[in-house]
Amino acid sequence: MSAPRPQVRAILALGSNLGEREGTLQSAVADLVDRPEVRLHNVSPVVATKAIGGPLGQPDFLNMVIAIDTTLEPLELLAHCQAVELSHHRTREVRWGARTLDIDIISYGSVTSEDPVLTLPHPRAALRAFVLYPWSLMDPQATLAGASVAELAGAADDMAGIAHVQDVPLEQDS
Ligand code: ADP
Ligand code: MG
Repeated sequence: MSAPRPQVRAILALGSNLGEREGTLQSAVADLVDRPEVRLHNVSPVVATKAIGGPLGQPDFLNMVIAIDTTLEPLELLAHCQAVELSHHRTREVRWGARTLDIDIISYGSVTSEDPVLTLPHPRAALRAFVLYPWSLMDPQATLAGASVAELAGAADDMAGIAHVQDVPLEQDS
């Protein structure tokens, strides 16, 4: 028998700006944790973010962050996130435009990777208020590569375009 795999705390960022955005985020979280190797630890509030670039009149993005504890290895977790993304890509996508669902792995324990298939921590997370701000609301003490997530959020260029929307009514453990 092999030894049980360790649980690793990972941070996932979810975004949607097409269709039933709130419902998509809620069911994506449910899908992400709907396997024994993934346990939901914490859920951020949802924030609204102005879409940058692309067609005019795109709906705002809704963004949120979750913390999970998982025994999946990093590439297994990426494949799982991509499968959940695909299961929500039922509407035709506009080029340059709206996304039904995007799921990024922001961090996986303290693992670092330069691999373009899975770069850890996520290379743009430290600059994106739509990741940093909900993360800081979920966990005011959080750090990313040694820096305070709340301070990084305050310094991010897109912070002015972010509005706190609501808490997602999901079950979470204590
Ligand atoms: P983006 O999230 O940058 O808007 P995509 O969701 O289309 O774009 O992802 C593009 C590629 O990014 C994926 O095929 C994936 O292999 C790669 N990738 C690299 N690092 C990560 C990460 N930390 N989380 C998610 N995807 C990543
Ligand atoms: Mg992505």
